[in-house]
Amino acid sequence: MSERRPEVNAPSSPVLDRVLKGSLCSGCGACATIAHGSVSMSYSKDGFLRPVQSGPVSPEQDRRIRQVCPGVGLQLPLDDRPQHLLWGPFLSMYSGHATDPNLRRLGSSGGVLSAVLTYLLDNGEIDQILQVAADPELKFANRTITVAECGDIAAAAGSRYAPSAPLADLEHHLASGQRFAFVGKPCDVAALQAMKVGDARIAERIPYLLSFFCAGVPSLAGAREILARMGVEEDEVTAFRYRGDGWPGMARADLRNGTHREMSYADSWGGILSRHVQFRCKICPDGIGSFADVVCADAWEADEKGYPRFEERDGVSLAVGRSVKGDVLLRRAVESGYLELSPFDPAGLSAIQPGQLSKRRFVLSRVLALKLLWKPVPAYRGFHLLRNAMSGGLRGNVRNFLGTVRRAFLGRL
Ligand SMILES: Cc1cc2nc3c(=O)[nH]c(=O)nc-3n(C[C@H](O)[C@H](O)[C@H](O)COP(=O)(O)OP(=O)(O)OC[C@H]3O[C@@H](n4cnc5c(N)ncnc54)[C@H](O)[C@@H]3O)c2cc1C
Ligand code: SF4
Ligand code: SF4
Repeated sequence: MSERRPEVNAPSSPVLDRVLKGSLCSGCGACATIAHGSVSMSYSKDGFLRPVQSGPVSPEQDRRIRQVCPGVGLQLPLDDRPQHLLWGPFLSMYSGHATDPNLRRLGSSGGVLSAVLTYLLDNGEIDQILQVAADPELKFANRTITVAECGDIAAAAGSRYAPSAPLADLEHHLASGQRFAFVGKPCDVAALQAMKVGDARIAERIPYLLSFFCAGVPSLAGAREILARMGVEEDEVTAFRYRGDGWPGMARADLRNGTHREMSYADSWGGILSRHVQFRCKICPDGIGSFADVVCADAWEADEKGYPRFEERDGVSLAVGRSVKGDVLLRRAVESGYLELSPFDPAGLSAIQPGQLSKRRFVLSRVLALKLLWKPVPAYRGFHLLRNAMSGGLRGNVRNFLGTVRRAFLGRL
Protein backbone atom coordinates (compact mmCIF):
# COMPACT_ATOMS: atom_id res chain seq x y z
CA MET A 1 0.00 0.00 0.00
CA SER A 2 3.06 2.23 0.15
CA GLU A 3 3.08 5.29 -2.12
CA ARG A 4 6.00 6.92 -3.80
CA ARG A 5 8.50 8.20 -1.25
CA PRO A 6 9.80 11.74 -1.49
CA GLU A 7 12.67 12.24 -3.94
CA VAL A 8 15.27 13.67 -1.59
CA ASN A 9 18.83 14.84 -1.75
CA ALA A 10 18.50 15.64 1.95
CA PRO A 11 17.21 13.53 4.87
CA SER A 12 13.55 12.86 4.16
CA SER A 13 10.90 14.34 6.42
CA PRO A 14 9.88 11.65 8.96
CA VAL A 15 6.30 12.91 8.92
CA LEU A 16 5.94 12.88 5.13
CA ASP A 17 7.67 9.51 5.03
CA ARG A 18 5.17 7.95 7.43
CA VAL A 19 2.16 9.55 5.75
CA LEU A 20 3.23 8.49 2.27
CA LYS A 21 4.24 4.97 3.34
CA GLY A 22 0.81 4.49 4.89
CA SER A 23 -1.01 5.99 1.86
CA LEU A 24 -2.51 8.46 4.33
CA CYS A 25 -2.03 11.62 2.24
CA SER A 26 -5.26 13.34 1.18
CA GLY A 27 -3.39 15.72 -1.15
CA CYS A 28 -4.25 19.02 0.55
CA GLY A 29 -0.91 20.71 -0.20
CA ALA A 30 -0.36 22.19 3.28
CA CYS A 31 3.11 20.62 3.56
CA ALA A 32 4.17 22.29 0.30
CA THR A 33 3.32 25.67 1.80
CA ILE A 34 5.04 24.91 5.10
CA ALA A 35 8.24 23.59 3.50
CA HIS A 36 8.09 25.87 0.47
CA GLY A 37 11.06 25.35 -1.84
CA SER A 38 11.75 21.85 -0.48
CA VAL A 39 8.35 20.21 -0.95
CA SER A 40 6.03 20.62 -3.91
CA MET A 41 2.91 18.85 -5.10
CA SER A 42 2.98 16.77 -8.25
CA TYR A 43 1.08 13.86 -9.78
CA SER A 44 2.12 10.40 -8.67
CA LYS A 45 2.22 7.53 -11.17
CA ASP A 46 -1.28 6.52 -10.11
CA GLY A 47 -2.70 10.00 -10.74
CA PHE A 48 -2.93 11.58 -7.27
CA LEU A 49 -1.43 14.88 -6.10
CA ARG A 50 1.32 14.04 -3.63
CA PRO A 51 4.16 15.94 -1.95
CA VAL A 52 7.59 15.46 -3.46
CA GLN A 53 10.57 16.46 -1.35
CA SER A 54 13.51 17.95 -3.22
CA GLY A 55 15.35 19.74 -0.41
CA PRO A 56 15.79 19.76 3.36
CA VAL A 57 12.77 19.96 5.67
CA SER A 58 13.83 21.46 9.01
CA PRO A 59 12.72 19.90 12.32
CA GLU A 60 10.55 22.99 12.87
CA GLN A 61 8.84 22.53 9.47
CA ASP A 62 8.40 18.84 10.18
CA ARG A 63 6.77 19.68 13.52
CA ARG A 64 4.43 22.13 11.79
CA ILE A 65 3.48 19.57 9.13
CA ARG A 66 2.73 17.05 11.89
CA GLN A 67 0.38 19.60 13.53
CA VAL A 68 -1.71 20.24 10.43
CA CYS A 69 -1.46 17.22 8.08
CA PRO A 70 -4.79 15.36 7.71
CA GLY A 71 -2.77 12.19 7.10
CA VAL A 72 -1.35 12.47 10.62
CA GLY A 73 -4.73 13.13 12.19
CA LEU A 74 -7.76 15.34 12.69
CA GLN A 75 -8.69 16.94 16.01
CA LEU A 76 -12.23 18.34 16.06
CA PRO A 77 -12.67 20.56 19.13
CA LEU A 78 -15.76 19.63 21.13
CA ASP A 79 -17.13 23.12 21.84
CA ASP A 80 -20.57 24.31 22.91
CA ARG A 81 -22.23 23.96 19.48
CA PRO A 82 -24.99 21.35 19.26
CA GLN A 83 -23.33 18.07 18.25
CA HIS A 84 -25.11 15.58 16.03
CA LEU A 85 -23.49 12.16 16.40
CA LEU A 86 -23.73 11.38 12.69
CA TRP A 87 -23.74 14.81 11.07
CA GLY A 88 -21.32 16.72 13.27
CA PRO A 89 -21.63 20.13 14.90
CA PHE A 90 -24.12 22.49 13.28
CA LEU A 91 -26.42 25.39 14.06
CA SER A 92 -28.70 25.26 11.02
CA MET A 93 -29.53 22.85 8.20
CA TYR A 94 -31.44 23.77 5.05
CA SER A 95 -32.18 22.58 1.56
CA GLY A 96 -32.46 25.04 -1.30
CA HIS A 97 -30.72 26.69 -4.20
CA ALA A 98 -29.18 29.82 -5.67
CA THR A 99 -31.83 32.32 -6.84
CA ASP A 100 -29.67 33.04 -9.92
CA PRO A 101 -30.89 30.38 -12.39
CA ASN A 102 -27.51 30.30 -14.11
CA LEU A 103 -25.65 29.46 -10.87
CA ARG A 104 -28.34 26.93 -9.95
CA ARG A 105 -27.96 25.18 -13.32
CA LEU A 106 -24.15 25.28 -13.48
CA GLY A 107 -23.70 24.43 -9.79
CA SER A 108 -23.03 20.89 -8.77
CA SER A 109 -26.32 20.61 -6.90
CA GLY A 110 -28.25 23.86 -6.32
CA GLY A 111 -25.35 26.31 -6.74
CA VAL A 112 -25.53 27.34 -3.07
CA LEU A 113 -21.75 27.54 -2.62
CA SER A 114 -21.39 29.76 -5.69
CA ALA A 115 -24.30 31.98 -4.57
CA VAL A 116 -22.76 32.42 -1.10
CA LEU A 117 -19.44 33.34 -2.71
CA THR A 118 -21.23 35.87 -4.94
CA TYR A 119 -22.89 37.40 -1.86
CA LEU A 120 -19.53 37.71 -0.07
CA LEU A 121 -17.81 39.37 -3.03
CA ASP A 122 -20.75 41.66 -3.88
CA ASN A 123 -20.91 42.89 -0.31
CA GLY A 124 -17.19 43.53 0.00
CA GLU A 125 -16.77 41.02 2.84
CA ILE A 126 -13.87 39.50 0.95
CA ASP A 127 -11.63 40.68 -1.88
CA GLN A 128 -11.16 37.30 -3.56
CA ILE A 129 -12.15 33.66 -3.56
CA LEU A 130 -9.56 30.90 -3.31
CA GLN A 131 -11.06 27.87 -5.03
CA VAL A 132 -10.55 25.10 -7.54
CA ALA A 133 -11.44 25.06 -11.23
CA ALA A 134 -10.60 23.13 -14.39
CA ASP A 135 -6.94 23.15 -15.37
CA PRO A 136 -6.71 24.96 -18.73
CA GLU A 137 -3.91 22.59 -19.79
CA LEU A 138 -5.23 19.20 -18.66
CA LYS A 139 -8.97 19.78 -18.91
CA PHE A 140 -10.08 17.00 -16.54
CA ALA A 141 -7.55 17.97 -13.85
CA ASN A 142 -7.82 20.81 -11.33
CA ARG A 143 -6.00 24.03 -10.72
CA THR A 144 -6.28 26.37 -7.72
CA ILE A 145 -7.44 29.83 -8.76
CA THR A 146 -8.32 33.18 -7.22
CA VAL A 147 -11.51 34.91 -8.34
CA ALA A 148 -12.15 38.60 -7.79
CA GLU A 149 -15.15 39.19 -10.10
CA CYS A 150 -18.63 37.76 -9.46
CA GLY A 151 -18.94 37.04 -13.18
CA ASP A 152 -16.08 34.51 -12.93
CA ILE A 153 -17.62 32.43 -10.14
CA ALA A 154 -19.86 30.37 -12.45
CA ALA A 155 -16.83 29.08 -14.36
CA ALA A 156 -15.59 27.27 -11.25
CA ALA A 157 -19.02 25.92 -10.21
CA GLY A 158 -19.65 22.17 -10.28
CA SER A 159 -17.91 19.26 -8.59
CA ARG A 160 -14.63 18.14 -10.08
CA TYR A 161 -13.89 14.54 -9.13
CA ALA A 162 -10.14 14.79 -9.45
CA PRO A 163 -7.23 15.65 -7.13
CA SER A 164 -6.88 19.23 -5.90
CA ALA A 165 -4.28 20.74 -3.56
CA PRO A 166 -5.67 24.20 -2.77
CA LEU A 167 -3.29 24.84 0.15
CA ALA A 168 -0.12 24.30 -1.86
CA ASP A 169 0.50 27.99 -2.55
CA LEU A 170 -1.14 29.45 0.53
CA GLU A 171 1.82 31.58 1.61
CA HIS A 172 1.64 33.49 -1.66
CA HIS A 173 -2.07 34.26 -1.09
CA LEU A 174 -1.54 35.24 2.55
CA ALA A 175 1.29 37.57 1.54
CA SER A 176 -0.99 39.36 -0.96
CA GLY A 177 -2.77 41.05 1.95
CA GLN A 178 -6.18 40.28 0.34
CA ARG A 179 -9.14 38.83 2.28
CA PHE A 180 -10.37 35.49 0.94
CA ALA A 181 -13.21 33.03 1.16
CA PHE A 182 -11.77 29.54 0.78
CA VAL A 183 -13.55 26.56 -0.78
CA GLY A 184 -11.96 23.14 -0.43
CA LYS A 185 -12.45 19.52 0.47
CA PRO A 186 -13.26 18.88 4.15
CA CYS A 187 -9.66 17.73 4.78
CA ASP A 188 -8.30 20.94 3.18
CA VAL A 189 -10.48 22.99 5.52
CA ALA A 190 -9.40 20.88 8.50
CA ALA A 191 -5.73 21.51 7.63
CA LEU A 192 -6.40 25.22 7.22
CA GLN A 193 -8.13 25.39 10.61
CA ALA A 194 -5.14 23.64 12.16
CA MET A 195 -2.79 26.10 10.44
CA LYS A 196 -4.56 28.97 12.23
CA VAL A 197 -2.80 27.85 15.40
CA GLY A 198 0.57 29.57 15.13
CA ASP A 199 -0.34 31.80 12.15
CA ALA A 200 -2.66 34.66 13.10
CA ARG A 201 -2.83 35.86 9.47
CA ILE A 202 -5.06 32.95 8.45
CA ALA A 203 -8.08 33.84 10.60
CA GLU A 204 -7.72 37.49 9.59
CA ARG A 205 -7.20 37.01 5.84
CA ILE A 206 -9.37 33.94 5.24
CA PRO A 207 -12.47 34.72 7.30
CA TYR A 208 -14.79 32.23 5.52
CA LEU A 209 -14.11 28.51 5.08
CA LEU A 210 -16.58 26.68 2.85
CA SER A 211 -16.73 23.02 1.94
CA PHE A 212 -18.89 20.19 0.60
CA PHE A 213 -19.73 16.63 1.60
CA CYS A 214 -16.96 14.51 0.13
CA ALA A 215 -17.09 10.82 -0.74
CA GLY A 216 -13.44 10.87 -1.75
CA VAL A 217 -11.04 12.01 -4.42
CA PRO A 218 -10.59 9.80 -7.48
CA SER A 219 -7.26 9.70 -9.29
CA LEU A 220 -6.86 11.13 -12.79
CA ALA A 221 -7.09 7.53 -13.95
CA GLY A 222 -10.84 7.82 -13.28
CA ALA A 223 -11.33 10.62 -15.81
CA ARG A 224 -9.09 8.79 -18.26
CA GLU A 225 -11.29 5.72 -17.97
CA ILE A 226 -14.39 7.86 -18.64
CA LEU A 227 -12.74 9.24 -21.78
CA ALA A 228 -11.76 5.75 -22.91
CA ARG A 229 -15.37 4.54 -22.43
CA MET A 230 -16.54 7.54 -24.45
CA GLY A 231 -14.09 6.52 -27.18
CA VAL A 232 -12.25 9.84 -26.92
CA GLU A 233 -8.50 10.57 -27.07
CA GLU A 234 -7.19 12.91 -24.36
CA ASP A 235 -5.78 15.43 -26.85
CA GLU A 236 -9.17 15.79 -28.58
CA VAL A 237 -10.73 17.27 -25.41
CA THR A 238 -11.24 21.06 -25.32
CA ALA A 239 -13.36 21.14 -22.14
CA PHE A 240 -14.39 18.58 -19.52
CA ARG A 241 -17.16 18.68 -16.91
CA TYR A 242 -17.68 15.98 -14.31
CA ARG A 243 -21.25 17.11 -13.62
CA GLY A 244 -23.33 20.27 -13.08
CA ASP A 245 -25.23 22.04 -15.87
CA GLY A 246 -28.30 20.27 -14.55
CA TRP A 247 -28.65 18.08 -11.45
CA PRO A 248 -26.76 15.86 -11.15
CA GLY A 249 -25.72 16.74 -14.71
CA MET A 250 -23.83 14.60 -17.17
CA ALA A 251 -20.08 14.06 -17.39
CA ARG A 252 -19.31 15.83 -20.66
CA ALA A 253 -16.25 16.04 -22.91
CA ASP A 254 -16.25 18.76 -25.61
CA LEU A 255 -14.09 17.83 -28.58
CA ARG A 256 -11.97 19.71 -31.10
CA ASN A 257 -14.25 18.72 -33.95
CA GLY A 258 -17.14 20.63 -32.33
CA THR A 259 -18.99 17.53 -31.08
CA HIS A 260 -19.25 16.30 -27.51
CA ARG A 261 -19.73 13.03 -25.61
CA GLU A 262 -21.73 12.54 -22.42
CA MET A 263 -22.11 9.97 -19.66
CA SER A 264 -24.68 9.87 -16.85
CA TYR A 265 -23.69 10.60 -13.24
CA ALA A 266 -24.69 7.08 -12.21
CA ASP A 267 -22.29 5.62 -14.82
CA SER A 268 -19.43 8.11 -14.37
CA TRP A 269 -19.36 8.40 -10.55
CA GLY A 270 -21.09 5.15 -9.67
CA GLY A 271 -19.50 2.96 -12.35
CA ILE A 272 -16.01 4.43 -12.75
CA LEU A 273 -14.81 7.29 -10.53
CA SER A 274 -15.80 5.74 -7.20
CA ARG A 275 -13.46 2.80 -7.98
CA HIS A 276 -10.48 5.18 -8.27
CA VAL A 277 -10.83 6.93 -4.90
CA GLN A 278 -7.61 7.29 -2.86
CA PHE A 279 -7.07 5.09 0.18
CA ARG A 280 -7.10 7.92 2.77
CA CYS A 281 -10.73 8.63 1.87
CA LYS A 282 -11.79 5.10 2.85
CA ILE A 283 -10.77 5.82 6.44
CA CYS A 284 -11.99 9.43 6.51
CA PRO A 285 -14.17 10.31 9.50
CA ASP A 286 -15.06 13.74 8.15
CA GLY A 287 -16.46 13.60 4.62
CA ILE A 288 -19.15 15.88 6.08
CA GLY A 289 -16.95 18.98 6.51
CA SER A 290 -17.13 19.47 10.28
CA PHE A 291 -14.40 22.14 10.26
CA ALA A 292 -16.09 24.48 7.76
CA ASP A 293 -18.31 27.51 8.41
CA VAL A 294 -20.73 26.39 5.69
CA VAL A 295 -20.85 22.99 4.06
CA CYS A 296 -23.06 21.96 1.13
CA ALA A 297 -24.12 18.62 -0.27
CA ASP A 298 -26.62 17.09 -2.65
CA ALA A 299 -30.11 17.13 -1.16
CA TRP A 300 -31.10 14.09 -3.21
CA GLU A 301 -34.65 12.82 -3.02
CA ALA A 302 -35.01 9.27 -1.74
CA ASP A 303 -36.91 6.57 -3.68
CA GLU A 304 -39.46 4.21 -2.11
CA LYS A 305 -36.61 1.95 -0.94
CA GLY A 306 -34.92 4.93 0.72
CA TYR A 307 -32.03 5.28 -1.77
CA PRO A 308 -31.07 8.55 -3.49
CA ARG A 309 -32.57 9.14 -6.96
CA PHE A 310 -30.34 10.50 -9.69
CA GLU A 311 -32.88 11.51 -12.37
CA GLU A 312 -32.13 14.89 -13.95
CA ARG A 313 -34.02 17.81 -12.35
CA ASP A 314 -33.47 21.37 -11.03
CA GLY A 315 -30.65 21.35 -8.51
CA VAL A 316 -31.18 21.33 -4.75
CA SER A 317 -28.33 21.65 -2.26
CA LEU A 318 -28.18 20.76 1.38
CA ALA A 319 -26.68 23.77 3.20
CA VAL A 320 -25.33 23.41 6.73
CA GLY A 321 -24.34 26.38 8.89
CA ARG A 322 -21.73 24.86 11.18
CA SER A 323 -20.29 27.92 12.92
CA VAL A 324 -22.05 31.07 14.14
CA LYS A 325 -20.40 32.88 11.24
CA GLY A 326 -21.62 30.29 8.73
CA ASP A 327 -25.15 30.30 10.16
CA VAL A 328 -25.34 34.11 9.95
CA LEU A 329 -23.85 34.05 6.44
CA LEU A 330 -26.55 31.70 5.12
CA ARG A 331 -29.32 33.80 6.68
CA ARG A 332 -27.90 37.04 5.29
CA ALA A 333 -27.54 35.51 1.80
CA VAL A 334 -31.23 34.55 1.98
CA GLU A 335 -32.33 37.99 3.24
CA SER A 336 -30.35 39.66 0.45
CA GLY A 337 -32.00 37.51 -2.20
CA TYR A 338 -29.02 35.32 -3.22
CA LEU A 339 -30.44 32.06 -1.84
CA GLU A 340 -33.77 30.34 -1.36
CA LEU A 341 -33.59 27.95 1.59
CA SER A 342 -36.06 25.96 3.70
CA PRO A 343 -35.30 24.13 6.96
CA PHE A 344 -34.12 20.53 6.48
CA ASP A 345 -34.71 17.82 9.07
CA PRO A 346 -31.40 16.01 9.76
CA ALA A 347 -33.40 12.81 10.35
CA GLY A 348 -33.82 12.62 6.56
CA LEU A 349 -30.10 12.77 5.82
CA SER A 350 -29.18 9.12 6.39
CA ALA A 351 -31.43 7.99 3.51
CA ILE A 352 -29.94 10.38 0.95
CA GLN A 353 -26.30 10.17 2.07
CA PRO A 354 -25.83 6.40 2.53
CA GLY A 355 -22.11 6.58 1.71
CA GLN A 356 -21.43 9.19 4.41
CA LEU A 357 -23.60 7.31 6.90
CA SER A 358 -21.65 4.13 6.33
CA LYS A 359 -18.29 5.90 6.68
CA ARG A 360 -19.31 7.63 9.90
CA ARG A 361 -20.31 4.25 11.33
CA PHE A 362 -17.54 2.00 10.08
CA VAL A 363 -14.38 4.13 10.05
CA LEU A 364 -13.47 2.84 13.51
CA SER A 365 -13.56 -0.84 12.50
CA ARG A 366 -11.46 -0.10 9.38
CA VAL A 367 -8.91 1.85 11.44
CA LEU A 368 -8.77 -0.87 14.10
CA ALA A 369 -8.11 -3.49 11.42
CA LEU A 370 -5.18 -1.45 10.13
CA LYS A 371 -3.84 -0.95 13.65
CA LEU A 372 -4.00 -4.69 14.24
CA LEU A 373 -1.86 -5.15 11.12
CA TRP A 374 0.64 -2.56 12.40
CA LYS A 375 -0.17 -0.16 9.57
CA PRO A 376 0.11 3.56 10.29
CA VAL A 377 -3.25 5.27 10.78
CA PRO A 378 -4.27 8.88 11.39
CA ALA A 379 -5.26 9.88 14.94
CA TYR A 380 -8.87 11.09 15.11
CA ARG A 381 -10.45 13.03 17.99
CA GLY A 382 -13.92 14.51 18.33
CA PHE A 383 -15.86 12.38 15.80
CA HIS A 384 -17.79 10.10 18.22
CA LEU A 385 -16.28 7.11 16.42
CA LEU A 386 -17.15 4.57 19.13
CA ARG A 387 -20.77 5.66 19.53
CA ASN A 388 -21.26 5.76 15.77
CA ALA A 389 -19.68 2.32 15.40
CA MET A 390 -22.08 0.97 18.04
CA SER A 391 -25.04 2.39 16.11
CA GLY A 392 -23.80 0.51 13.00
CA GLY A 393 -24.41 -2.91 14.58
CA LEU A 394 -22.06 -5.86 15.09
CA ARG A 395 -22.51 -7.33 11.62
CA GLY A 396 -21.57 -4.15 9.72
CA ASN A 397 -18.54 -3.56 11.93
CA VAL A 398 -17.28 -7.13 11.57
CA ARG A 399 -17.79 -6.97 7.79
CA ASN A 400 -15.81 -3.71 7.52
CA PHE A 401 -13.08 -4.99 9.86
CA LEU A 402 -12.63 -8.26 7.96
CA GLY A 403 -12.96 -6.51 4.59
CA THR A 404 -10.08 -4.18 5.50
CA VAL A 405 -7.93 -7.08 6.76
CA ARG A 406 -8.65 -9.02 3.56
CA ARG A 407 -7.82 -6.06 1.33
CA ALA A 408 -4.59 -5.48 3.26
CA PHE A 409 -3.54 -9.12 2.71
CA LEU A 410 -4.42 -8.89 -0.96
CA GLY A 411 -2.40 -5.65 -1.21
CA ARG A 412 -5.53 -3.82 -2.31
CA LEU A 413 -5.62 -0.95 0.18
C1 LIG B 1 -14.52 14.94 -4.68
C2 LIG B 1 -15.97 15.29 -4.33
C3 LIG B 1 -16.75 14.38 -3.62
C4 LIG B 1 -18.08 14.71 -3.28
N1 LIG B 1 -18.84 13.82 -2.54
C5 LIG B 1 -20.11 14.16 -2.16
C6 LIG B 1 -20.90 13.31 -1.32
O1 LIG B 1 -20.47 12.23 -0.87
N2 LIG B 1 -22.17 13.70 -1.01
C7 LIG B 1 -22.66 14.89 -1.46
O2 LIG B 1 -23.82 15.19 -1.18
N3 LIG B 1 -21.92 15.73 -2.19
C8 LIG B 1 -20.66 15.40 -2.56
N4 LIG B 1 -19.90 16.27 -3.28
C9 LIG B 1 -20.34 17.67 -3.33
C10 LIG B 1 -21.45 17.96 -4.25
O3 LIG B 1 -21.13 17.34 -5.46
C11 LIG B 1 -21.57 19.47 -4.42
O4 LIG B 1 -20.30 20.04 -4.57
C12 LIG B 1 -22.24 20.15 -3.28
O5 LIG B 1 -23.56 19.72 -3.24
C13 LIG B 1 -22.21 21.67 -3.46
O6 LIG B 1 -22.94 21.98 -4.57
P1 LIG B 1 -23.21 23.49 -4.98
O7 LIG B 1 -24.06 23.45 -6.21
O8 LIG B 1 -23.68 24.25 -3.79
O9 LIG B 1 -21.73 23.96 -5.30
P2 LIG B 1 -21.20 24.79 -6.53
O10 LIG B 1 -21.84 26.12 -6.54
O11 LIG B 1 -21.21 23.97 -7.76
O12 LIG B 1 -19.68 25.00 -6.08
C14 LIG B 1 -18.80 23.90 -6.03
C15 LIG B 1 -17.53 24.39 -5.37
O13 LIG B 1 -16.71 23.27 -5.12
C16 LIG B 1 -15.39 23.55 -5.57
N5 LIG B 1 -14.79 22.28 -6.02
C17 LIG B 1 -15.24 21.46 -7.00
N6 LIG B 1 -14.46 20.37 -7.11
C18 LIG B 1 -13.49 20.52 -6.19
C19 LIG B 1 -12.36 19.74 -5.83
N7 LIG B 1 -12.06 18.59 -6.42
N8 LIG B 1 -11.58 20.19 -4.83
C20 LIG B 1 -11.85 21.37 -4.20
N9 LIG B 1 -12.89 22.16 -4.51
C21 LIG B 1 -13.69 21.73 -5.49
C22 LIG B 1 -15.53 24.54 -6.70
O14 LIG B 1 -14.38 25.33 -6.83
C23 LIG B 1 -16.73 25.36 -6.24
O15 LIG B 1 -16.33 26.43 -5.42
C24 LIG B 1 -18.60 15.97 -3.66
C25 LIG B 1 -17.81 16.87 -4.38
C26 LIG B 1 -16.50 16.54 -4.72
C27 LIG B 1 -15.66 17.55 -5.47
S1 SF4 C 1 -2.24 15.33 3.58
FE1 SF4 C 1 -1.63 17.40 2.97
S2 SF4 C 1 -0.08 18.00 4.51
FE2 SF4 C 1 -0.32 15.76 4.64
S3 SF4 C 1 1.26 14.93 3.32
FE3 SF4 C 1 -0.59 15.08 2.08
S4 SF4 C 1 -0.45 17.07 1.07
FE4 SF4 C 1 1.02 17.09 2.75
S1 SF4 D 1 -13.00 11.76 1.77
FE1 SF4 D 1 -12.01 12.81 3.46
S2 SF4 D 1 -9.81 12.55 3.12
FE2 SF4 D 1 -10.84 12.05 1.20
S3 SF4 D 1 -10.73 13.99 0.05
FE3 SF4 D 1 -12.72 13.88 1.10
S4 SF4 D 1 -12.43 14.96 3.03
FE4 SF4 D 1 -10.40 14.50 2.18
